[in-house]
Amino acid sequence: MYDYDLFVIGAGSGGVRASRMAAQAGAKVAIAEEQFLGGTCVNVGCVPKKLFYYGANFSSDFSDARGFGWSLQPPEFHWPTLRDNKDQEIKRLNTIYASLLDGAGVELIRGRARLQDPHTIEVDGKSYTAARILIATGCKPYVPNFPGSDLVITSDDVFYLDELPKRLLIVGGGYIALEFAGILHGLGVEVEVSYRGNQLLKHFDHALGKKLLTEMRGQNIEVMMQSQVLSIDEHSAGQLAVKFNESVERSYDAVLYATGRLPYTSDLGLDNTATQRRDNGEIVVDEYFQSSEPSIFALGDIIGTPELTPVAIEQGMAFVDTWFKDAARTVDYAAIATAVFCHPNIGSVGLSEERAREDGFDIELYESDFRHLKHTLSGRQERTYMKLVVDTASDKVLGAHMMGQDAGEIIQGLAIALKAGVTKQIVDSTIGVHPTAAEEFVTMRIPTSATE
Ligand code: NDP
Repeated sequence: MYDYDLFVIGAGSGGVRASRMAAQAGAKVAIAEEQFLGGTCVNVGCVPKKLFYYGANFSSDFSDARGFGWSLQPPEFHWPTLRDNKDQEIKRLNTIYASLLDGAGVELIRGRARLQDPHTIEVDGKSYTAARILIATGCKPYVPNFPGSDLVITSDDVFYLDELPKRLLIVGGGYIALEFAGILHGLGVEVEVSYRGNQLLKHFDHALGKKLLTEMRGQNIEVMMQSQVLSIDEHSAGQLAVKFNESVERSYDAVLYATGRLPYTSDLGLDNTATQRRDNGEIVVDEYFQSSEPSIFALGDIIGTPELTPVAIEQGMAFVDTWFKDAARTVDYAAIATAVFCHPNIGSVGLSEERAREDGFDIELYESDFRHLKHTLSGRQERTYMKLVVDTASDKVLGAHMMGQDAGEIIQGLAIALKAGVTKQIVDSTIGVHPTAAEEFVTMRIPTSATE
């Protein structure tokens, strides 16, 4: 007999959902967590980031307001207020997570868990046994090794800074780099971005990264493309001297690395089991989250599926349905909508133009690039961009992509339509909501280009 039916390591989005659902299904469940409840999303990711994003939006709202007749004293921003108010909200959420676990009858064990064998876990010198062990430890920021790499900060640090830097370099061209570029610029930091490639957000439809680059430069954010940091040295007074390729050298108050995240799976005792890992630390599992060690399972950011909170939550529920409810099911990873909370927002679902072509589809593209009605009075030059990728043969919409205000909100509805297999004909027969930006998605009639 084991102590538990299920022992979960990591109380982030996926681990908490799986443990609660399993306990509600009648299993005896424990969950171990060495840091905070709610994982990256609640503590150093989605939630505090979105609160900072709202905070940053005020700066453009204040300047937009003038065109609508408002005059304002120069507004002042106080970073410690935003940071501390955010901390209060996160504490509240941590408490809610604790009571959700408690309410479901899940035993919370504080401390770092390590596997001793396929059924035994050790936490702070105490051993526990379980029929099944679920690893849901998530990822940690990755910083490449180079001279001065110990001087940089990561997204984990930004949430707790004592003060905001005046001049900041952000390295990377993905989600985190571009979200923080917009947020910190909005909060008054002089931001520069260094990206090693020539296509921001390279896994998205390429038009989005190109349009975003134009918008960022229009906001006076300097984005250096094909730029590489060679070394960082510390000057006096906390100044960092950064050497780039092509003999460029610049000084900053801080350097933020947003160069991806790596699975937090080392030092977990996995070597005491037959659990297979990839070179980057990902745990190899089958579609039901079972590893090569039959009693060990993994889900969330550490298994090579999209690193998104709702994906981990869905995986947690599929895991419980399969292993504790006798209702085996897998997760459908097609048409997962995602948003990048950069300024302006990006929302995307389904295939990019590039991916559709790679997959061999004959496609038609429908695009619209316009100035939002609001900006006719605000004076802002910002553009809104929308694109539909349509399969010529079946008329099915393969992808929908947007850059513009509220793109993250708008894309969710399109995700439902794509999941339901919407055709362009149905999109065309949908009457728009007027006057909105979103209505543009149902009024694009003339293809902008087509494959032969
Ligand atoms: P991303 O994979 O999105 O971007 C990493 C960036 O770092 C890329 O531009 C990459 O360049 C660059 N890079 C990687 N290695 C190096 C290196 N050695 N030197 C210089 N540049 C390098 O990772 P993020 O860290 O931004 O985000 C991690 C994940 O977290 C995302 O993929 C996403 O799934 C999730 N996330 C989701 C959010 C949301 O839903 N809104 C918000 C934030 C994160 P290249 O393009 O050339 O590969």
